[in-house]
Amino acid sequence: MERKRNIPIPLNSNSELEAICARSNILLLGVTGGIASGKTTVADMLKEMGAVVIDFDILAREVVELGKPAWKEIVDYFGRQVLHDNEILDRKKLSRSVFQDTEKRERLESFTHPRISEEFVKKVAEIANKDPDAIIQAIIPLLFEVNLQGLVHRTLVVHIPRDKQIERLIERDGISMEEAVNILDAQLPIDEKAGYADYVIYNENSLDATRKQVEELWQILSELQRQGSN
Ligand code: ATP
Repeated sequence: MERKRNIPIPLNSNSELEAICARSNILLLGVTGGIASGKTTVADMLKEMGAVVIDFDILAREVVELGKPAWKEIVDYFGRQVLHDNEILDRKKLSRSVFQDTEKRERLESFTHPRISEEFVKKVAEIANKDPDAIIQAIIPLLFEVNLQGLVHRTLVVHIPRDKQIERLIERDGISMEEAVNILDAQLPIDEKAGYADYVIYNENSLDATRKQVEELWQILSELQRQGSN
C-alpha cells in the first residue's frame, strides 16, 4: 500500500456535508480505480473490517427511477425513445445516445449529478446519526473524472497494470481483446488516477497480498478517525 499524503483535505463542495462532519467524527474515504481493477474486491474487504459502504453506481441508478425528478428531466430532453415499454429508463440506449456527444452528455450529467450528490449527503447523514464515528467508504468509479474529491476526506485508488486490467476484464465479462482495449481507452488511465490519490492499493497479485495492504490502510484510517483529523 502506498501512502502519499497525510494532509487533511477540507471538504469543499457541500455545506450540508461540512455541517454533518462538523457535528460528528465520521471519516469519508473515496474509493476509485479503473474498470475491473478491484474496487469491489477491496471495498468488500474494508467492509469486513468495519467500513460502511455507499456505492455511487447504486445512487446513479436510484436517481433515475421512474417518476423521479431526474427521470422527468431526461424524458423532457431526450424524448420517450430512451424509455422501455414500461416507462423505466433504458440506460443502455441513453448511454448510446450520449456517447461521443459532449453537449448531450453534459445535459444528462446536469440532471443526474446534483441528485447523486444530494442522495450521497442524505446517506452520510443517516449513517452519521447512527454511528458518529463511522468510517464510510464511497465507491465512486469516476471520482477524479467528475471532480468529486471535495465530497471525501481521503481518496484511494485500487490499481492494477493495464495489461492485467485487460486480462481480468476479458475473463470476467467474456469480451474480446479489442472491446476491452476500447473500454480502457475511453477512461482516464489508471496510472494517472493513482497519481491523484492519497492511497494506492496494488491489486495485481494474490487476494492475500491485497488484503495485507487493506489491513494496513484500515489501521491508518482508524487512527485518523480516532484523532479526529478529518
Ligand atoms: P468494475 O469497474 O467493473 O465495477 P471493480 O473495479 O469493482 O470492477 P472487481 O469486480 O472487484 O473490480 O474485480 C474485477 C475482477 O477481477 C473480478 O472478477 C474479481 O474477482 C477479479 N479480481 C479482483 N482482484 C483480484 C485478485 N487480486 N486476484 C485475482 N482476481 C481478482
